[in-house]
Amino acid sequence: MATATLHIDLNALGANWRALNALSSPATETAAVIKADGYGLGAALVARALLSAGAQQFFVAVAEEGVAVRQAIGAGPRISVFSGHCPGDTALLRDYDLTPMLNSPQQIRRHFDTLPGQAFGIQLDSGMNRLGLEPADWAAVRDEALAQAPVVVMSHLACADEPEHAMSAQQLAAFKELTAGISTPRSLAATGGILLGSDYHFDLTRPGIGLYGGLPFSDARPVVRLEVPLIQCRDVAAGESVGYGNSWTATRPSRIATLAAGYADGLIRAMSGRATLYCDDTPCPLVGRVSMDLLTVDITHLDHTPESLDILNPTQTVDVLAGVAGTIGYEILTSLGARYARRYTGTGAT
Ligand SMILES: *Cc1c(COP(=O)(O)O)cnc(C)c1O
Repeated sequence: MATATLHIDLNALGANWRALNALSSPATETAAVIKADGYGLGAALVARALLSAGAQQFFVAVAEEGVAVRQAIGAGPRISVFSGHCPGDTALLRDYDLTPMLNSPQQIRRHFDTLPGQAFGIQLDSGMNRLGLEPADWAAVRDEALAQAPVVVMSHLACADEPEHAMSAQQLAAFKELTAGISTPRSLAATGGILLGSDYHFDLTRPGIGLYGGLPFSDARPVVRLEVPLIQCRDVAAGESVGYGNSWTATRPSRIATLAAGYADGLIRAMSGRATLYCDDTPCPLVGRVSMDLLTVDITHLDHTPESLDILNPTQTVDVLAGVAGTIGYEILTSLGARYARRYTGTGAT
C-alpha cells in the first residue's frame, strides 16, 4: 500500500477530554470543539469517542459541519454553531436541531423571525474583534434576547495561550461586565482559558486543540501517529543531489529513501530540509524539497531498510513538527490531507 496511515488513538482523545474536564469544578460542564472535521481527525468518529468519554455537547464552526456531526451521533446532544445563523442556514439549523451562537443584531432578527422557539446562544465580543456582538449592540438587544432564554452567553479569548498576557484579564473583566446580573449560563474558555484557572471557567468550557494532543495543553496524551511507507530506496554518491531544485547534495555516500506523502497531504513545503522522520526512536533527516506526493529521507545510518517511517509520533508531536515548519499545531492537524488511510484504535471510553 502506497498511502500513508494516520493512526488516531481515540482512548487518548477521551483521556484528554477527561483531563481537561477534571481541571474545572464539577459545576462547570466541559463541551468539545470538533470544527474542521474534528481538527482534521474525522468529526464522526471523534464525536462518538468524546460522547463515550462523557462529553454531552459539541461546537462546530458552520452549520454544514453540524449536519455531519448530527448524522454521526443522532438526536440528543447539543451541537452548537459558532458562526451563528447565516443566510441560507435556516433549514439546516431546523432539520438537524443545531444551536446557533448569534453574533449580530441581524442574526438575532433572522433567528427570531425564521425559527422562533428554537434554541440559540449569544456570542459577545469581549475585545478580540473577530466574532460576536459589540458591546453597544448587545446593550440594545440584550433585554429582547434574554427574554427568549438563550442557552448560553459566550465569548472567546484572543491570547489565552500566553498566560502572562494582560489581554486575558481585560477580556475577563469585559465579559463579566457584559454579563453582569444575568442568569444565563456563561462560557469564556477554550483550551488555553481552562489552563488559566477557575476565574475563566464559568458554566461551560469549550476545549478543542487540547483534546487532540496539542499545546497549550502540555499534559495532553498524543493522539496521532503518522506512518509513511517507503516506496523506493537508492544509494547516492557524494556530490549527487536529491529532489527538485538540487537543494540537497550528498557529502558522503548516502542511502536515500523515497516516501509516499508530500505537501498535498499537509506536509507543507516549509518542512523541506528541516523536518525529521523516525524509525522507531531513531531520527532520520528529511533531505531536499518536499514534493507534492513524495518525501526523500536520509537513512544511511540505519542498519536495515524499514517499511515505513513516522513523521508524527510521541516524540515529534504536531507542535514540534509545526515548530520546524514555522507554523502552529492547529494548522498541521487541520491540514492533514484526505489521502491518508485513517486507522482508529480504542473507543474513548477508557
Ligand atoms: C476554535 C474555538 C474554540 C476551541 O479552541 P482551542 O484553542 O482549540 O481549544 C473555542 N471557542 C471558539 C469560539 C473557537 O473558535
